[in-house]
Amino acid sequence: MSEENLPDFGNTELAFRHLSDKELGRGRLLFELLSRPWLVAIGSFMAKLALAIRLPISWAVKPTVYAQFCGGENIEESEATIEMLYNNNVRTILDYSAEGVDSEQDLDLTCSEILKTIDAASTDPRHAFAVFKPSGLSTNGLLSKDKTKFSRADKEAWSRVERRFRSICSSTAEAGGRVLIDAEETWIQDSIDELAEDMMSDFNRETAVVFTTVQLYRHDRLDYLKELTNRAEESGYHVGVKLVRGAYMEKERERAKRKGYPSPIQVDKKHTDADFDSAVQFCLDNLDRIHLFAGSHNETSNLHLCRMMSERGIAKNDTRVTFSQLLGMSDPITFNLAAHGYNVAKYVPYGPIREAMPYLIRRAKENSSVAGQTTRELTLIRKEVARRNR
Ligand SMILES: Cc1cc2nc3c(=O)[nH]c(=O)nc-3n(C[C@H](O)[C@H](O)[C@H](O)COP(=O)(O)OP(=O)(O)OC[C@H]3O[C@@H](n4cnc5c(N)ncnc54)[C@H](O)[C@@H]3O)c2cc1C
Repeated sequence: MSEENLPDFGNTELAFRHLSDKELGRGRLLFELLSRPWLVAIGSFMAKLALAIRLPISWAVKPTVYAQFCGGENIEESEATIEMLYNNNVRTILDYSAEGVDSEQDLDLTCSEILKTIDAASTDPRHAFAVFKPSGLSTNGLLSKDKTKFSRADKEAWSRVERRFRSICSSTAEAGGRVLIDAEETWIQDSIDELAEDMMSDFNRETAVVFTTVQLYRHDRLDYLKELTNRAEESGYHVGVKLVRGAYMEKERERAKRKGYPSPIQVDKKHTDADFDSAVQFCLDNLDRIHLFAGSHNETSNLHLCRMMSERGIAKNDTRVTFSQLLGMSDPITFNLAAHGYNVAKYVPYGPIREAMPYLIRRAKENSSVAGQTTRELTLIRKEVARRNR
């Protein structure tokens, strides 16, 4: 493919045409604030404190950071975002992100909320996938526990977790949809992988309905992806896989050091990037078995995927390949890919403000620690503001 057929992520007119001047200004101010780590540290501390002592914080959070990164407090409130995305050829992945939930009742409630997103998507072409975080359906304690040491109560709790996973996957299959299972920390990921593989084996016979997640910042994951594909080949099911770099690097390294075991994380970013590219290539070379969902804000990786598709003669709109970014981040990638005809979807997190706070704090921290990311967002927003003011 000639380079002019590839998306140009620097095309800010196209990237931000869905934003009014006021919304663009809000984005600029927010990313300017997020580019100051000391400010994010203080802001996160204050937010956690306000939550702990139950101070009302909606007035400060809702029109700012929440409006940037979340769709609304419920599915109905997210409607305007869903519609705006669809009008720009981008589909929605409703993401109900309840974090730190622990009681059985709350885990059941999270499961019902995810079932609602599947229901909302079932007759609505604006939705691309459903998604859930396994720690919303099980306590972390249970996910991290050695199965051979399960007590009777643990076994009962585990069968409830399996039931929640199964009800989400079977409802998705019945609705003709697709569902992503997010990946989390290594100490709970083995249990998640086991459940995800069971679900893929049960629901991915004809096509990929259930998608597991592989984090390429782990040095063992490229091999895992290949072994998983061999197992799927032998058992006759499709692999659905979301490839990401991974969100818990600092936590993983710190825990490994504290507990004295080798870090599961790659030695440096170069190795993570190389494995991400190799994993993408492996998926594209095995598209008859693997369906790929690439979750990344990295311009080079996204462009590389476009190039690799073109080299292999894979159509831009091939349903077996999806690109994805998070709401409020990397709009230049999302909207330029969509304008070029690729399948693109945004995670649209939603939920009550208090429950979305841990997610928002993570977004803020990620944006302030990934210096390049924020600088790039800011540069492009400033470029667009200047273009509009010309
Ligand atoms: C749609 C979508 C879904 C996602 N789902 C998940 C999920 O289920 N689970 C999950 O864990 N994350 C998930 N993420 C987050 C993702 O893993 C990354 O944290 C985030 O997207 C940043 O990586 P990047 O590819 O966008 O860009 P980049 O900015 O190029 O990469 C940053 C990432 O590179 C890695 N990295 C940075 N420095 C180093 C270093 N010194 N050594 C080794 N590696 C390094 C880290 O993973 C870091 O997050 C998702 C992201 C998206 C867009």
